[in-house]
Amino acid sequence: MQSSGRQAEAPGRGPRVLVVGAGIAGLGAAQRLCCHPASPHLRVLEATARAGGRIRSERSFGGVVEVGAHWIHGPSQGNPVFQLAAKYGLLGEKALSEESQLAEAGGRAGLPSVSYASSGGSVSPELVAEMATLFYTLIDQTREFLRAAETPAPSVGEYLKKEIRQHVAGWAEEEEAKRLKLAILNNAFNVQCCVSGTHSMDLVALAPFGEYTVLPGLDCTFPGGYQGLTDCIMASLPKDVMVFNKPVKTIHWDGSFEEASAPGETFPVLVECEDGGCFPAHHVVITVPLGFLKERLDTFFEPPLPTEKAEAIRKIGFGTNNKIFLEFEEPFWQPDCQHIQVVWRDTSPLEDAAPKLQDAWFKKLVGFWVLPSFGASQVLCGFIAGLESEFMETLSDEDVLLSLTQVLRRVTGNPQLPAPRSVLRSRWHSAPYTRGSYSYVAVGSSGDDLDLLAQPLPEDGRGAQLQVLFAGEATHRTFYSTTHGALLSGWREADRLIALWDSQAQRPEPGSELDSALPVPGSRGGWPHPFL
Ligand SMILES: Cc1cc2nc3c(=O)[nH]c(=O)nc-3n(C[C@H](O)[C@H](O)[C@H](O)COP(=O)(O)OP(=O)(O)OC[C@H]3O[C@@H](n4cnc5c(N)ncnc54)[C@H](O)[C@@H]3O)c2cc1C
Repeated sequence: MQSSGRQAEAPGRGPRVLVVGAGIAGLGAAQRLCCHPASPHLRVLEATARAGGRIRSERSFGGVVEVGAHWIHGPSQGNPVFQLAAKYGLLGEKALSEESQLAEAGGRAGLPSVSYASSGGSVSPELVAEMATLFYTLIDQTREFLRAAETPAPSVGEYLKKEIRQHVAGWAEEEEAKRLKLAILNNAFNVQCCVSGTHSMDLVALAPFGEYTVLPGLDCTFPGGYQGLTDCIMASLPKDVMVFNKPVKTIHWDGSFEEASAPGETFPVLVECEDGGCFPAHHVVITVPLGFLKERLDTFFEPPLPTEKAEAIRKIGFGTNNKIFLEFEEPFWQPDCQHIQVVWRDTSPLEDAAPKLQDAWFKKLVGFWVLPSFGASQVLCGFIAGLESEFMETLSDEDVLLSLTQVLRRVTGNPQLPAPRSVLRSRWHSAPYTRGSYSYVAVGSSGDDLDLLAQPLPEDGRGAQLQVLFAGEATHRTFYSTTHGALLSGWREADRLIALWDSQAQRPEPGSELDSALPVPGSRGGWPHPFL
């Protein structure tokens, strides 16, 4: 084990850095590090056969579908994803216009073009607009509790329901009309579950909810696919940096590791892969999703993480939001329709009904967005969050297609509505290296837990410094769950390392008194060659 101070570096080469995970956080960190004059010896170890992680665009239906990230949220000057996408020429004219950048949409989906009720037929747009105004007024009120000593409820869901109950008491309509209003509000809760990546808004902490920051700008998409961005970042890296199909099994840290080809030289970290390959390094930047970390917490770090950090990983929320794409030969919707909402008349946010998932999973589906530009195909994209979404992942394509055909026939009141030609869906909860969609601040946690997760190890700077660094969307206190939060977190950790190297470059040369703090040759040697 080492004592303290500077780390040994490979002769003639810069420090060895491993980035685990090739999502936008890992690629962003790698891009930043590659440019530094310390010329680190860098590898990005990616478990799967592709880069991009939760940014995943697939060619399908004669166009491109986004299986993961869909929009740039808040595309304006303060958003690094927007800036980078603009620099690479990946955005359309409208997204780049000043008007779009300055628009304050508050991160909300606009009103649906049409709202269908489960009883068949459409719901009055005025009523839908009235309920949307109520819901988002209440959501806005949640910001008041940021840093408040006490909150009227532990969760966003319970607060919203408390307020809605008071409103209901003042509603003068007949019972049936009241029920319809509540059903519309239930849909708004389901939309919010998709936005927050959670099963229930009752799981989302109220006090820190307002800490999530929405940037100005009208959410926009990538005409050629979101993955164009991560592809461009990857293309800017030196050729041998990326290592695919290299799932990491265990991060051994706070050690002193040798490699067979360079005896005498030691490294504080050793990254062990599932295939037995081992990579000694001075620094490792972990960017794996929180869902993966939660599942593998007991075996992924050796020695285990400090208690507080492990507790933060357990406490921060990480849920599922999936997409279901339906391809039709002919549209059953109007040409100007952008968004179809489905309102289940027998649902209410004030009732804790828990029907069997098999019978009712599709009621959590919020509706469908009409995707533009698919040539001959007509494509809808539905969103569904929570346990119902995870259940949907276990069904076959045929089952999903059948259920949704029945739903669409029922809500449109057209029993002859042609079935979709095909279905494609994401399965983020089953994905072994993701285990869900994105993070949220859960009841019992706070923004401090996200900051704690972001803290490098060793905690107190003892031993070789900055051995294990943490990036990824779940480590960004105000932009968690987004691509820009993830990118900024990767840059943050790259900058942390760069600051260390810059400070080391200013220290006295070897031979001075500080030199005595260099690590001693290690004892746990003999690992296979790392960078094969
Ligand atoms: C359905 C869905 C819709 C979304 N919509 C939006 C949106 O519209 N706008 C937005 O801003 N954000 C959206 N997001 C969130 C956004 O995609 C993520 O926040 C962001 O892409 C996360 O980037 P990351 O680098 O932190 O993690 P990831 O992209 O998950 O990258 C982590 C990488 O680590 C790899 N990995 C995991 N374990 C290992 C291991 N053991 N060894 C080696 N590699 C490993 C994974 O394979 C992955 O490639 C959405 C996400 C989903 C799932």
